[in-house]
Amino acid sequence: MNIKDHIRGIPDFPKPGILFYDISTLLAHPDAWSVALARLANDVRKFQPDVLAGVESRGFLVAAPLALKLGCGFVMLRKKGKLPGKTIRHEYALEYGTDTIEIQEDAIQPGQRVVILDDLLATGGTMCAGIELLRQVGGHVTGAAAILELNFLPGRQRLADMQVPCSTLASYD
Ligand code: 5GP
Repeated sequence: MNIKDHIRGIPDFPKPGILFYDISTLLAHPDAWSVALARLANDVRKFQPDVLAGVESRGFLVAAPLALKLGCGFVMLRKKGKLPGKTIRHEYALEYGTDTIEIQEDAIQPGQRVVILDDLLATGGTMCAGIELLRQVGGHVTGAAAILELNFLPGRQRLADMQVPCSTLASYD
């Protein structure tokens, strides 16, 4: 099964000139989605996580079922102002614009091994912000994974600069 057969490229979203890779068609196809999750589970298992962290919102769709599959806890990295209790935040640059994500201060036990997940790795700004937060709350980030990766942007290099290995199922040049 080729994951890319289940992904649509939508031109000019969210801005003119951007080709957006839409995972809705993969999620709508239970057999293909199940294969994708099984492949991600194999990759992520190698990072030996205790906890999986998902970035709101499409990262939740990936991290939550994988956490159950691997017997890991699931932690939310959410957009600003959504999490109750004590939180810390990090602002970062997106492929288009800026954003801020937050984590609850007590989300991770000290030294827990964490893998961060999202649907797509582009500039790496989102994943790197997540890694900063996970480290600040005491997590040991052993890996990152996504369904898709854009090769023409520096995401993988930025993760390597943070000493975080990365695994993705398919990439676009
Ligand atoms: P980055 O921070 O690596 O530049 O961008 C990745 C983030 O933006 C991810 O959270 C991802 O959901 C979103 N994103 C950027 N471009 C695309 C795209 O073409 N398709 C999808 N599904 N998400 C994208």
